[in-house]
Amino acid sequence: MFSADIITLFPELFPGPLGASVLGRGLNDGLWALQATQLRDFATDRHRTVDDTPSGGGAGMVLKPDILAKAIDAVAPDDDPRPRILMSPRGTPLTQARAHELAAGPGAVIVCGRFEGVDQRVIEARKLEEISIGDYVLAGGEVAAMVLLEAVVRLIPGVLGALDSRDEESFENGLLEYPQYTRPQSFEGREIPAVLTSGDHGKIARWRHEQSLALTGARRPDLLPAKSR
Ligand code: SAH
Repeated sequence: MFSADIITLFPELFPGPLGASVLGRGLNDGLWALQATQLRDFATDRHRTVDDTPSGGGAGMVLKPDILAKAIDAVAPDDDPRPRILMSPRGTPLTQARAHELAAGPGAVIVCGRFEGVDQRVIEARKLEEISIGDYVLAGGEVAAMVLLEAVVRLIPGVLGALDSRDEESFENGLLEYPQYTRPQSFEGREIPAVLTSGDHGKIARWRHEQSLALTGARRPDLLPAKSR
């Protein structure tokens, strides 16, 4: 079973949105597991200190390597096969392909940064894979960890109802998804495209593919193979 361990200063934020709807049902039904661990529990002084000022000066605070390493070792001993991930704006951008890889694996140990970030030595010593959810800076790794887990957990077999509803989604075939419509037939003078109510499945599939290509070309040409740009 896919098992996620989160190391955070705010364990009370979890499961949060991951506890709602189909992901929450999957969690209750034991299709996946989630534990949030309070980093502060691994502090050694009476003030329960987890951070210190940056070496070399500058603003903010840095999470201490010794405390974070103890927390990682407590939730994931050396032989734990799960990837160890640090949410980080400097990381490799999260992709649907990486989400699929993670969903097929045993789970993940996810460290949520806070303040200015994490001491570099613990990233190296515990081989943390840095993953970013986009080119902007959040205040902490918790929401980023939720984004990562939401993308991954919905791919676990049984979590979403209809398995094949995923195959045509944005990114699954390298393209953005075609526009979707549902009843009523007429909305504020706008009609559902006639092809979609024609009953001709071949024509519908071709129309959707053309729409996907056109949307991707207009909004995300970087996703198209180099030769067709
Ligand atoms: N000083 C750091 C930013 C720290 S933000 C820098 O410039 O790189 C505090 C924490 O929020 C980070 O340690 C990370 O865990 C999380 N975070 C911020 N932006 C993120 C992003 N785009 N993706 C993933 N995690 C992010």
